[in-house]
Amino acid sequence: MSTIPSPRQKIYADCIYFSPFFQGLALRAAIHEPLITPVQCAYMIESDVQANEERVIDGEQKSEDEHLDVSLRPQRLDDFIGQTDLKRNLHIFLEAAKKREEPIEHVLLHGNPGLGKTTLASIIANELASQIKITSGPALERVGDLAAILSNLQRGDILFIDEIHRLSKSIEEVLYPAMEDYALDLVVGKGPSARTMRLNLERFTVIGATTRLSLLSAPLRDRFGFVHRLQFYSDEEMTDIIARSSHILSLPADQPTCETIAKRARRTPRIANRLLKRVRDYAEVRHDGTLNPLIANEALDHLAVDPLGLDATDRHILTTIQTTFLGGPVGLSTLAAATREETSTLVDIYEPFLLQIGFLKRTPRGRMITEAAEKHLAP
Ligand code: ADP
Repeated sequence: MSTIPSPRQKIYADCIYFSPFFQGLALRAAIHEPLITPVQCAYMIESDVQANEERVIDGEQKSEDEHLDVSLRPQRLDDFIGQTDLKRNLHIFLEAAKKREEPIEHVLLHGNPGLGKTTLASIIANELASQIKITSGPALERVGDLAAILSNLQRGDILFIDEIHRLSKSIEEVLYPAMEDYALDLVVGKGPSARTMRLNLERFTVIGATTRLSLLSAPLRDRFGFVHRLQFYSDEEMTDIIARSSHILSLPADQPTCETIAKRARRTPRIANRLLKRVRDYAEVRHDGTLNPLIANEALDHLAVDPLGLDATDRHILTTIQTTFLGGPVGLSTLAAATREETSTLVDIYEPFLLQIGFLKRTPRGRMITEAAEKHLAP
């Protein structure tokens, strides 16, 4: 991301190299804050630099989310909030398989990062009392890696492949017969003496997850019997998710506080959980740990997340279309060049939410901003 640090952020970043004493002094001098303790100072530096370097409202999993994701992950279908249609279909699908005492068909889940694909995969395994093996497209580098996993699967086991659109062609070709005929075709030997050996596999289920369905090859997509898209969550569902998370984390967040955080969480549970954690840290360091809407808003302002969940880059993209391209339409690659972002970053990370809240329109001639966006950007 190409952000120019503000003088304040630059001072904070520079401060990291000094001792806490100098950090405190430099900060106080630089931003005229009242007396602050080294702990508060360290928190401000960390959160400001993090806010600048990595998007706090990015749905992708970050290292700080790993522990949180696991501890807050719903275990059963009934604990999974929202996605009503998907849950209803999945319920029937799972019950039917249980009645027939057969492993389920292969499942493909697609949708933005942080909407619950991995969570649903582990819920399916729990509901079927099956073992789940977790891997991802980029992690499966060699055919041998996949062959080792497949040959160790038992009947009814689930193989979860995250970012399945990133599988290499050679791995995909091994996966086709494995998914369709439960067989592994291995090439033994090299050169003229090479021959193919077929190894039978147990009946297992692949659950694939992807943020880019369009990048999946047609033959791979056709091998999934249950394909479903995860939608963004409503404000009410987001509030329930935050209330559930604060209950698990024993945080004193009441309904209005959960609603306040929900509004800025881009309709994405992972972002909601991350913001909840950041608000808790802020309340502990800057206040006495009490959580209320006022403190939540203050904390989220401090993270530069606006009342609709947009950050500086979202606003930069929208104002570029508004001012440089007079509202659009502007082609994707021209917009990417003007905002100094990769086209894939624009498409995968920024656009989905801006389209969802009706701030951006995709037309055959390019991207346009909407009246609602112009209203929101107006000073
Ligand atoms: P994805 O695989 O789509 O990137 P995850 O399944 O890892 O997303 O979800 C991220 C986190 O969000 C999970 O750890 C879980 O705590 C939370 N989460 C996702 N969906 C829900 C939901 N419907 N209800 C409650 N929490 C959810």
